[in-house]
Amino acid sequence: MKCLACGSSEAEAAMSRCPRCGFPLIHTVGETGDGEAALGKMAEEYRRKKLSGFSFGLLTYRHEMREGRLEQSSVQEVTLPVRAFELSQGKIFWQEGRFARIRGGEGVTLTLVIRKDGTRREIPLPVRAPETEGFWQTGLVLEPGFAVRLAVGDETSCSCSGEVPLLPPARPEGGE
Ligand SMILES: [Zn+2]
Repeated sequence: MKCLACGSSEAEAAMSRCPRCGFPLIHTVGETGDGEAALGKMAEEYRRKKLSGFSFGLLTYRHEMREGRLEQSSVQEVTLPVRAFELSQGKIFWQEGRFARIRGGEGVTLTLVIRKDGTRREIPLPVRAPETEGFWQTGLVLEPGFAVRLAVGDETSCSCSGEVPLLPPARPEGGE
């Protein structure tokens, strides 16, 4: 059964709440347009509430030549200018910044920073470098279950990281 709030399909029919986000799995009798509209509104409010307060960044590395060799000189956090609830599911939000690319096909680890209510998590994400000609852009995409993936490349060719769930798993059935 697909959750109206987070889009996850992990819930089984016997469950009363989505295991990913905790939104009630509402069974209705009869179908009325009004009921659907009300449920849709509830789900949207729940989605905004659950996703509010998250902000995202990306660690970037500066390199400089030292004694003829390229060395990493500093690390900086770049803010991704989007709020979690503004992301639409399955659609990549691209940010403006452009980065030097790494040869296509190679593995690269990007570090996503997730902030929420004063907490900060750094999550290293292995990504396969996309086959692109130009500079890289980075992007963020929301997946079902309130998870995000980091994208790198450009709008024509990009690679995505694995999913990072934003919320801790919902409490098991019966717990509240
Ligand atoms: Zn859900």
